Amino acid sequence: MHVVVVGAGLIGVASAYHLRVRGHEVTLIERAGGPATGASHANGGMLTPSMADPWNAPGVWRDLLRWIGRADAPMLLRPRALPALAGWGLRFIRASSPARYHDNTLRNLRLAADSVAGMARLRAQEPFDYLADLGGTLKLYGEARAFEAGLRKAGTLAPELITVRPLDRPQVLDLVPALADVAHRIVGGLHFPKDESGDARLFTERLCAAAERRGVRLRFGCEARAIDAGGGRVQAVRTARERIPADAIVVATGCHAPFLLRGCGVKLPIAPVKGYSITCTPAADDATPAPLALPIVDDALHAALTPLGASLRIAGTAEFTGFDTRLDAARLGNLRGLLSAVLPAHAARLLSGSVTSWAGLRPMSADGVPCIGPCGPRGLFVNAGHGHLGWTLADGSGRLLADLVEGVRPALEPRDYAPQRFA
Ligand SMILES: Cc1cc2nc3c(=O)[nH]c(=O)nc-3n(C[C@H](O)[C@H](O)[C@H](O)COP(=O)(O)OP(=O)(O)OC[C@H]3O[C@@H](n4cnc5c(N)ncnc54)[C@H](O)[C@@H]3O)c2cc1C
Repeated sequence: MHVVVVGAGLIGVASAYHLRVRGHEVTLIERAGGPATGASHANGGMLTPSMADPWNAPGVWRDLLRWIGRADAPMLLRPRALPALAGWGLRFIRASSPARYHDNTLRNLRLAADSVAGMARLRAQEPFDYLADLGGTLKLYGEARAFEAGLRKAGTLAPELITVRPLDRPQVLDLVPALADVAHRIVGGLHFPKDESGDARLFTERLCAAAERRGVRLRFGCEARAIDAGGGRVQAVRTARERIPADAIVVATGCHAPFLLRGCGVKLPIAPVKGYSITCTPAADDATPAPLALPIVDDALHAALTPLGASLRIAGTAEFTGFDTRLDAARLGNLRGLLSAVLPAHAARLLSGSVTSWAGLRPMSADGVPCIGPCGPRGLFVNAGHGHLGWTLADGSGRLLADLVEGVRPALEPRDYAPQRFA
């Protein structure tokens, strides 16, 4: 079978890799000059089953209204984005009932746990370096109420899929001595020892190279313009220059997935949710040891500080502002503020080295669960809508997709991720 995968971000590359490992002929096409130029480029670098909960928690609409126009809001809704969000927004709010939120969290968690287990096999199969760290993540709390709520939330998750260690202040400081300067502001932390971290761009590039070595044909600078279907099944992907015949087509174009699918009569509620990162790399002659050995997560700001080799990345916050990747000084300022608040003794030094700012668009499905599986004419598949969890879910999503393309019964319940749930 010849499968054309469209989009070389984390999800498209993982899909192409697993399809090829199963022995299929695979062509991966990407409109940019290489892999990982979209949302997968400079993200938070974490694999976090611990953050499997969708961002539409019960009561989210109240928060969104409260935060409108506030540059320091964790989730900022720009009024100009409202018309394009109308249908998506209603579904987003509808999915925030306590029952649906809980259900959707468990769907993500099952896929996340499967995905992280798959990463261990992948590391054995493809031993490339992506600055992987397997020491977990630490969620930090400055208020007793938020800490208790965090504990309660972790307690509602399936204990067989997630391990959480509640830490009091001295235990937090034992784990991360660099937090001593802000000890007075810490009430506790939650350590998730099974979370992982690393450089998602490096990972995507190297997995793409591994896929090519295994025989995946790569076409960069190649934009898919349309999908040709006839007789009820897909025929080919049309690009500006050519028509690539295919037995199956996988749309893995992140937040752009609805555009290609619309041409085949498939409507998917996936919207772009903007986030930012700054990556600080100390000067070569700066011999100060890296302050963090594991990522520190600020749940309230949807942001984290992640050590990546000699660099430290501060990433996160969410903004509904359409397909706009311009850098906004105030939103980047929130990340600098987080760095100063968590590591006050290191912030000035880190910000005086090389600092790279970036913004990317998370492909967020309306219920916060990715869309993986067949849709529209026979042979058409989607693997998109992974929101804030694209790397966490990438390996498992690639394998689930490969199962569905092959018609093999997957280990996970495919209906949980089926695009048809929005029909
Ligand atoms: C600030 C920030 C922090 C994040 N932190 C984390 C984190 O710590 N952990 C985590 O798990 N997730 C995180 N995420 C989410 C994660 O990065 C995304 O979910 C993931 O990158 C989505 O991958 P993707 O392959 O679906 O999309 P993308 O990486 O955007 O890839 C889609 C690709 O499709 C290509 N494309 C689009 N249209 C076409 C076309 N017509 N023809 C050909 N190619 C096309 C694009 O050029 C792009 O390369 C974060 C996201 C952001 C923005």
